[in-house]
Amino acid sequence: MKTKRFIPTGNQTKCCGATEILVKSRTGRYITRNCIKCNKYHQVTTSDLHKIADLQQLKCEECSGQLIAGRGAPSGYQYRCKQCKAIFDLPVMLPLWTDLS
Ligand SMILES: [Zn+2]
Ligand SMILES: [Zn+2]
Repeated sequence: MKTKRFIPTGNQTKCCGATEILVKSRTGRYITRNCIKCNKYHQVTTSDLHKIADLQQLKCEECSGQLIAGRGAPSGYQYRCKQCKAIFDLPVMLPLWTDLS
């Protein structure tokens, strides 16, 4: 992915009732679900990623195919294109958590 994506999880945060989005952690190796208001974070599971992919209808940049969430190297979080099999490492697509504060 060349462009950073602002990906809402579809949840409202319990702390602020605000939008929750996916962000990249400080090291760039992990992703978390963060409150856009106070930056409180929660861990992201594979089922979260499936839910988000379904909700947002994420598309492949190469062929516009549907992206499927999965676990895999290098970061452990990735989306794979159903059509052309391209793999997108998820943290690369996301804004840094410090971009929120
Ligand atoms: Zn909050
Ligand atoms: Zn594709």
